[in-house]
Amino acid sequence: MELAEIVKKRCGKPMKECTNEELYFALLEMTKKMAGERESTKGKRKLYYISAEFLIGKLLSNNLINLGIYDDVKKLLEENGKSLSEIEDIEPEPSLGNGGLGRLAACFLDSIATLGLNGDGIGLNYHYGLFRQVFKNRLQCETPNPWMDKESWLEKTDVVYSIPFGGFTLQSRMYDIAVTGYENRTTRLHLFDVETVEEGLVREGIDFDKEDIAKNLTLFLYPDDSDDKGRLLRVYQQYFMVSSGARLILDEAAARGSNLHDLYRYATIQINDTHPTMVIPELIRLLMERGILMEEAIDIVSKTCAYTNHTILAEALEKWPVHYLEKAVPHLMPIIYELNNRVVKKYRDESVYIIDSENRVHMAHIDIHYGYSVNGVAYLHTEILKNSELNHFYRIYPEKFNNKTNGITFRRWLLHCNPRLSALIEELIGPGFKKDAAELEKLSAYVNDDAVLDRILGVKEACKAELKDYLKQTQGIELNEKSIFDIQIKRLHEYKRQQMNALYVISKYFEIKEGKKPSAPITVLFGAKAAPAYIIAKDIIHLILCLQQLIENDPEVSPYLKVVMVENYNVTLAEKLIPAADIHEQISLASKEASGTSNMKFMLNGAVALGTMDGANVEIADLVGEDNIYIFGESSDEVIRHYEKADYVSKDFYEADPKIRRAVDFIVSQEMLAIGRKENLNRLYNELLNKDWFMTLLDFKAYCEEKERALKEYGNRRAWAKKMLINISKAGFFSSDRTIAQYNAEVWKLD
Ligand SMILES: *Cc1c(COP(=O)(O)O)cnc(C)c1O
Repeated sequence: MELAEIVKKRCGKPMKECTNEELYFALLEMTKKMAGERESTKGKRKLYYISAEFLIGKLLSNNLINLGIYDDVKKLLEENGKSLSEIEDIEPEPSLGNGGLGRLAACFLDSIATLGLNGDGIGLNYHYGLFRQVFKNRLQCETPNPWMDKESWLEKTDVVYSIPFGGFTLQSRMYDIAVTGYENRTTRLHLFDVETVEEGLVREGIDFDKEDIAKNLTLFLYPDDSDDKGRLLRVYQQYFMVSSGARLILDEAAARGSNLHDLYRYATIQINDTHPTMVIPELIRLLMERGILMEEAIDIVSKTCAYTNHTILAEALEKWPVHYLEKAVPHLMPIIYELNNRVVKKYRDESVYIIDSENRVHMAHIDIHYGYSVNGVAYLHTEILKNSELNHFYRIYPEKFNNKTNGITFRRWLLHCNPRLSALIEELIGPGFKKDAAELEKLSAYVNDDAVLDRILGVKEACKAELKDYLKQTQGIELNEKSIFDIQIKRLHEYKRQQMNALYVISKYFEIKEGKKPSAPITVLFGAKAAPAYIIAKDIIHLILCLQQLIENDPEVSPYLKVVMVENYNVTLAEKLIPAADIHEQISLASKEASGTSNMKFMLNGAVALGTMDGANVEIADLVGEDNIYIFGESSDEVIRHYEKADYVSKDFYEADPKIRRAVDFIVSQEMLAIGRKENLNRLYNELLNKDWFMTLLDFKAYCEEKERALKEYGNRRAWAKKMLINISKAGFFSSDRTIAQYNAEVWKLD
């Protein structure tokens, strides 16, 4: 163990006398050094996973686990009177992503390294990650979230490039974060940055001068919805990322022996959603600069790039006005025009054009025409892409379409976040599941073993008690650990329907007021950030925080029902919340959630899903069987038909069902207006009544019925434990190791 030496050198005193902060930085240094020793350059063809987001979360414990020294370090620290978990608290969380898409990219890097594949990540070095969320007067406020200490996981490299924009040029520099594989090689996450960024540009909250590109380019992670200036900045960010990345890819390929005509034999690029799409025209441009003719350059790049689609929400598919691109990256436009001309010449169908009649560039269309693979992220999602959303493309290129159901890394989402459960599993079936997640199936031998079922319940109880302590200490929240923990944590979006869960809470509140007490107390936990410009999402947060207060103050109801919205939901909080869940809510409107990954994390930690047949829920239901999941609501086919016929009218549901009417009306009741803001509550009420684009009221009745069934069945503890065990035993499929192995076998084909 080198730690003692590093401590001595850095601090000049023994470990016992060091502060947690000193020890944290010593551990950081040691971990970086050990990670570096495991780098390897094996492999001719290399994967580049390009993504605008990598929601990596804290790295210390995960790296210690992957390096195989977690237990030794923990013990050594304990012998010196120190606690690893307290030291871990010092680490700032790098939140370089918004939600599932960014977290997926982080899980994928872990699995790429763990499988020993030759692959690196490419992204941007945001100085402030996703904003920190604070509640003031029951409203979300956003503040900057710095994560780069003087010393951090970042390592400055000598790799620098000049990146041209319309009218100016910026210097980019590459910073690296080592990605440790579980008992395997180390790969790298390359994050590009501009040297001229000025953190002083930040004004009130997370407001800043959006026009001074040299000073703001990598200042903030793009908080999805934004204004026009913000959107233009986004284009600058995207081009900066892909141009830097493309240069790196060409340099590395050349260094490994490529003559660039055979680039695709040396490199394959996975484009994570449309954000990095400009890598296609940029690579074509760079190849032409190096003397390759356009025809061939297009062919080479088309054999190099593959695209992952993450959404069918129309508003989330990027379409940049031509004049944005003309301003930010004029040198790319001749190429984009040419790419479009080739499509126009070949196909009569306007829906597959790259540039539409309103002069907007459809980024996904570039990826599909000029990439060799298009994949969805869950079975149902891919089917919807093929049969409706991208059907016109599917007919042209059926061979390009394939499915890769998402996954999660079990190192973070089991070994690290739930050591108790992990130890119990190891005791029962041995350590093989850590390397081969499919071995979790062996747990099914214990479905009727009462002693094992009781121990699983015991682990859950302990995790709930731990969450209680954590939330008490960090957020001043009091939980009843004997209550049912019903958890919904994810970005706040109308399609995810947190508002439906809130309406349930209102109904339950009425029932309790009327004397119908639940058989066990219920705690409904929410965690969610809303995009700063997403008004209705922020109104839903306000509604939930008002309900939290109302119920807290009502002694008739509070012993039986508690609502908690945790502040600043992030990876660190997810790691505490997920092991403690009894029921997890995956209640998106069917067809709208591409996959979901929190559903997989919960399943692995022995929680039972209450959800719609959407995203990967469909595959979870398939695996665990109907006795071990709670499914409700209209199917994706039915929902798609409602949209086609435009026949869903929320007011009809409101008027037909007194229970719905009462719950919706309560949003603007005297009781609520006494706590909340009229403007926000009224707006939300009107939205639900007159629009309700994501059909909350359509499924509300079925949702309440199914939730009651789940709450009732929770009372039969052994039967419930069996459901938990079956969920865990079937979770192996959702290891990102499986997902990455499939990408490699069917798409990347690395040697
Ligand atoms: C897993 C994860 C997500 C994705 O959650 P979904 O419920 O699948 O949308 C978002 N944010 C964080 C912090 C996560 O860990």
